[in-house]
Amino acid sequence: MTGKVYLAEIKSSSQENLLQRLERIIELSGIFNTLVKHDKVAIKLHFGEPGNTAYIRPVYLRKIVSLVKKKGGRPFLTDCSTLYNGRRARAIEHLEAAFENGFDYSSVGAPIIIGDGLIGDSYHSNSVNYKHFKEISYGKEIHDADFLLSVAHFKGHEMSGFGGAIKNIGMGAASKKGKLAMHSSVTPAFDKTRCIGCGRCINWCPAGAIALTNKKAGITPDLCLGCGECIAVCAEGAINIVWNESISNFQEKMVEYSKAIIEDKGSKVGYLNFLMDISPECDCYPYNDAPIVPDIGILCGTNLVQIDQASVDLVNQQPVNPNSRIANIAIAETDKFRAAFPNIDWEIQLDYASDCGLGSREYQLVRV
Ligand code: SF4
Ligand code: SF4
Repeated sequence: MTGKVYLAEIKSSSQENLLQRLERIIELSGIFNTLVKHDKVAIKLHFGEPGNTAYIRPVYLRKIVSLVKKKGGRPFLTDCSTLYNGRRARAIEHLEAAFENGFDYSSVGAPIIIGDGLIGDSYHSNSVNYKHFKEISYGKEIHDADFLLSVAHFKGHEMSGFGGAIKNIGMGAASKKGKLAMHSSVTPAFDKTRCIGCGRCINWCPAGAIALTNKKAGITPDLCLGCGECIAVCAEGAINIVWNESISNFQEKMVEYSKAIIEDKGSKVGYLNFLMDISPECDCYPYNDAPIVPDIGILCGTNLVQIDQASVDLVNQQPVNPNSRIANIAIAETDKFRAAFPNIDWEIQLDYASDCGLGSREYQLVRV
């Protein structure tokens, strides 16, 4: 099906500023047509790792929140905590990071609820029958919401070429267990040089897979369930992910997670992609390199394949920012993401999403 994707162009005027144009594309797209009074609305975004300045500004969330409330919905901002040990690995630190980046009730008009609980062990699991997964587990608070609105900062990504709506939902809403399964095919690794033998991971492990030997923790891989929770509970950073998944499997797994999550929501899902500060890498880093192209605007639509395809196409139509890291101008003429990450085929995620029945890559762009 060829769906419409609406673009609020970045160039605004005294007649209509970008926030007003954002409101107009939301109305035109009909993404809230299925939202009814009292619906709990999970607005899934990335609050940005402190130090990164490319994430979506709170002022846009304030507008989105106000529009959800206008429809009678009960919005909350959410994200699930990360697998790696950064500033967003556990709910308390994650909330502090969000506040540091300007997100709180007074700035956006809605509460922030971390999607997978205090230490990332609160998730909902679905049985599925996909190529890579037989079970999908994602944030319980996101599962319990009536409506899911993906608000994604569109940018490059070091493992998937680009990160948009598919990544915001498929990876971002996944539990630690899901994130671990997407990134790695083996159990976590224990760093004996960092371990202080506190025993916290042993007490936490639901499988009894960890034991101390000579005051250093170690794992029995056959017992490990792959929940990833030991990574979060170790305050010393002594338990690490083995990032060994292939680029193609990583992207396909992310798509399978997206599919299960959005199919749970039925028609109660919508998408906004922000094509601004289009940095070459993920907002998970505590810094961001110069944008690879000029700002483009905000996209809105009802299909995640089409909104991501439209985002890629719009980026690729732009001139390269001469201050960016992209050096291969010949490739960048037609493909900014391949120029930034020559070994990554970003089309895998779109092709696989389309093959999985999530939507056609064909779309109609409506400029507003
Ligand atoms: S929680 Fe970390 S420091 Fe404590 S025993 Fe486990 S691995 Fe070692
Ligand atoms: S990943 Fe989960 S099951 Fe495996 S060792 Fe860590 S806490 Fe235990």
